[in-house]
Amino acid sequence: MREARSPAEKAATEPAPLLSLRGISREFPGAKALAGVDLDIHEGEFVAIVGPSGSGKSTLLNVLGVLDTPTSGTYRIHGTDVALLREQQRSEERAQTFGFVFQDSHMVGRDPAARNAVLGLRARGISLAVQKRLVGPVLERFGLAHRAGTPASLLSGGERQRLAIARAVIGSPEVVLADEPTGSLDTANGEIVLRHLRELHRKGTTVILVTHDPAIAASADRVVTMRDGTVVSDTGSVVRSGEDDGGRAPESVRDRRLVRRRRDEFADAIADSLSSLTVRPAKALLLVLAFLLGSGGLVAAIGLSESAAVKVSSRIDAAANDEVRANRETGYGSWDEATADISRAKSLSGVRGVGVVADLSASVVQPSTFRPGSFPAQSGFSGAVRVTDSEYLRIQGAKVSQGDAALLDYSFGGPVALLGADAARQLGVAKPGPGVVVWLFGEPVPVVGLIEDPGRDPVLSGAVVVGVGSYPVTDRIAATLVLRTVPGMPAALADALPKALNPAQTSDVKVQTVADLRELKHGVNEDLGRLVAVVSVVLLAIACLSAGTTMYLGVLARTAEIALRRALGMRRAAVAGMFLVEGAMVGLIGGAAGGAVGMAAVLAYARSEGWAPAVPWYAAGWGIALGLGSGIVSAVYPALVASRANPAQLIRG
Ligand code: ADP
Ligand code: MG
Repeated sequence: MREARSPAEKAATEPAPLLSLRGISREFPGAKALAGVDLDIHEGEFVAIVGPSGSGKSTLLNVLGVLDTPTSGTYRIHGTDVALLREQQRSEERAQTFGFVFQDSHMVGRDPAARNAVLGLRARGISLAVQKRLVGPVLERFGLAHRAGTPASLLSGGERQRLAIARAVIGSPEVVLADEPTGSLDTANGEIVLRHLRELHRKGTTVILVTHDPAIAASADRVVTMRDGTVVSDTGSVVRSGEDDGGRAPESVRDRRLVRRRRDEFADAIADSLSSLTVRPAKALLLVLAFLLGSGGLVAAIGLSESAAVKVSSRIDAAANDEVRANRETGYGSWDEATADISRAKSLSGVRGVGVVADLSASVVQPSTFRPGSFPAQSGFSGAVRVTDSEYLRIQGAKVSQGDAALLDYSFGGPVALLGADAARQLGVAKPGPGVVVWLFGEPVPVVGLIEDPGRDPVLSGAVVVGVGSYPVTDRIAATLVLRTVPGMPAALADALPKALNPAQTSDVKVQTVADLRELKHGVNEDLGRLVAVVSVVLLAIACLSAGTTMYLGVLARTAEIALRRALGMRRAAVAGMFLVEGAMVGLIGGAAGGAVGMAAVLAYARSEGWAPAVPWYAAGWGIALGLGSGIVSAVYPALVASRANPAQLIRG
């Protein structure tokens, strides 16, 4: 029976029912839930679907709500074949046309009532301002205003179900689908819920209600009875216009403010992942730590390789163009032999200066500020003991303060020592002067100056330097001649030196130019580069794996909530985005922290090695970028799993 309507209204509504099922079947493995259902539902109806358990009521509701896809048959909404809709348009239908009330209220328990009420709006990318404007009145209407801030898990069953209706209708859907909404309530609360549904219907919303309760069914305008997946009886369409005559009430008119906006969808994804991180801080910390280790290791590796390269190359570049080193394979029998080589080398053209350097074993020399055996015993000196002439210091560009390098060459009886700045600090010598000695070979040696700047020879800053000839030679001396040349001459001199020093046996003379060192530098960089690659790949793989696993478990723990959001109209891509954002955020935080820790580690290491630390600025950028990238990568699989969550699974309860 229908009320008389104007011809225009009839033309608009009658030829195309709001929802139309033709021959709809839904088969599950081993069960045929729906077997050829034909059903038309018009705007403004209040339909009760009844039938024994397992007769296909919930499946029918799922199909109507576009939560489930029929195996065969045609389903049209407003005349549009749902089978032709893309996934995103199906989400749009769920969001705009339908509001769902399930038997279990399916609240996000930790979230307050108000946030649960707007879950559907959030899932649809509705702006925060609109959410705020809508939530107050709707909570008021369902008698929940005073519970707005209460976590949903603390609400009573009746309150939760009223909140579920509030959530279903806040976006002004055309159709409310309710699957046994009073099934878990006592009679009084069931009455209240039913009254709210009738009120919605009175204001123009189409209501489809699955129920067990004959009393409720009897109060509906139309009763559809199901058995074994088919409709066995239908009392037929009864459309009553709303009380404010004129067809659909204003409430059901699509609200222009309720338009999905990507920006708001994205903002909600960020807010959601932030809250999921703060709700489980221990988990979040663990994830951040994983990425911190990965990207921190990488930054440290880059920094270390760069610092090492700088250390090597500063020496190489300094020596770039004007240095040749030579030594005798058999060493020297005395310092006089070495001096003879120096003058031979000096006689070659293109040579600007020739110095000599040799190292003594610090463990034999045992430099110390205290007389050996006296108290306190000193910890071992960790620097070098270098034997040089003053010419060597000059051509290396070393600067001696509070003393005179020339004293190395003319010490007038007994050795004297110069101390590099670090060596002086280690030995506790503040400044040289009368009576200031260091003990070498168990004998006191006057300190005659400090090396303020080691010039091109970084070893000097940590070295005790004594003059050539300070000590009697007992073994052959492995001394190296260092030649400073006119720029561009090292190659020519390298050729000439062996003949000039030992014409009888040129093979005894070993010559080293910068070209040899260049190869060394190359080798060093390549080795470190490989190490960087291996270490960072391993660390990041571990980080990705552990983060991915943790996030995957998180997805499993939240399937119901995710399915709920999908049912409320969240797009598949947005669900995936939610987890990708979470991964990105964790990765970003871990990467940034890793960058800082990695840099600090390099600085500390370089300092302990006495290198000039050279942490390139881009290393920190790498840390952040890699943290971000691997965070996203680790979230890909969990995001995929989450986006596949089946909303139909939820309504079934
Ligand atoms: P009702 O809501 O009327 O109790 P349902 O629509 O939930 O009935 O189920 C109808 C039939 O389909 C039942 O036999 C049920 O076991 C089956 N069924 C429903 N969902 C699934 C599923 N996901 N997998 C397999 N069988 C299902
Ligand atoms: Mg059911």
